[in-house]
Amino acid sequence: MKFDAKFPDAHPGIPPIPNVVKSLYEHQERPCRVCEEPTRWFHRELIIHVCSEECINKFLQQN
Ligand SMILES: [Zn+2]
Repeated sequence: MKFDAKFPDAHPGIPPIPNVVKSLYEHQERPCRVCEEPTRWFHRELIIHVCSEECINKFLQQN
């Protein structure tokens, strides 16, 4: 599920659920590292922009 759908009321700079999703909602959109769709979500440990948990899992399998 896309983080945008999961956390529709996310605020830039504030983790929606700290310690559950290690991703941060940012002000600026960037392409998701995996599927290249524009996203505001940035994974703080992997240091990549990523739009969903599925894309995080794909990234982890490929690297
Ligand atoms: Zn993606």
